[in-house]
Amino acid sequence: MIVTRFAPSPNGSLHLGHAYSAVVAHDLARETGGRFLLRIEDIDGPRSRPELAEEFRRDLEWLGLEWEEVPAQSIRLASYEAAAHELLERGYLYPCTCTRAEIEALEPRLGSQGVVYPGTCKGRLLDPDKPAALRLDVDRAMADCGELSWDDALAGRQLADPREAGDVVIVRKDAPASYHLAATLDDAADGVTLVTRGYDLFPATSIHRLLQALLGLPVPRWHHHGLLLDDSGQKLAKRRGSPSLADRRRGGENGLLLAEQLRLRKFPAGISLASA
Ligand code: GLU
Ligand code: ZN
Repeated sequence: MIVTRFAPSPNGSLHLGHAYSAVVAHDLARETGGRFLLRIEDIDGPRSRPELAEEFRRDLEWLGLEWEEVPAQSIRLASYEAAAHELLERGYLYPCTCTRAEIEALEPRLGSQGVVYPGTCKGRLLDPDKPAALRLDVDRAMADCGELSWDDALAGRQLADPREAGDVVIVRKDAPASYHLAATLDDAADGVTLVTRGYDLFPATSIHRLLQALLGLPVPRWHHHGLLLDDSGQKLAKRRGSPSLADRRRGGENGLLLAEQLRLRKFPAGISLASA
């Protein structure tokens, strides 16, 4: 059975790109009698606004989607802590006390997940007086896991390349998990078989595939769909002020019709779909 999910972060209202993502994930599951899950990814520290979860549910309802909601990330912290503890004990994580400014001063290479950490703290011991993040020792992990691949429904078989993003943060200074650890654990715990999300997260999948190998998690398939772009060719984003779904809904727009248009890939003026 196909199990997909929509996993929004409540740090801003949803926009048309989210609606497209939710409709795609919903339909991929429902077309074959599968399950479509909603998971609120609310561990984004101070940026997280839990009250938005209710707005998201109203938005999905308005689009005519049916879903099963699984527990939000904020009530799964113990599972993240346990996995991080295991990875630390097995020597795959190391503490990093560097600030963003310190890392940027080293003029690091830019990768898909932002700056690639130059490994300054690798081999250092944890100083209990300094707040530390825990980073993945990618070289060590790759040496033990060997070559890894994963399957994308649109792009086909991919060789995992976690080195591209470098030693990413697995446990944040201010939260018991980074997005990479939390989403990977949750998708496994929720029984997701087809991880459906935007193409912007395509490179992150290499990291998730490596975490699955290290933690002995089941390996799903992925479906990275194309992103909706605005008239300047940029990805729709909360911060660039694309009208939110909640605004459209409150303004009386017909959500069922909007969902149908998205299915037909007919987008409002100025919006286009970048091919995945
Ligand atoms: N919570 C993430 C976001 O809103 C999505 C994560 C995912 O689909 O893997 O960008
Ligand atoms: Zn460091």
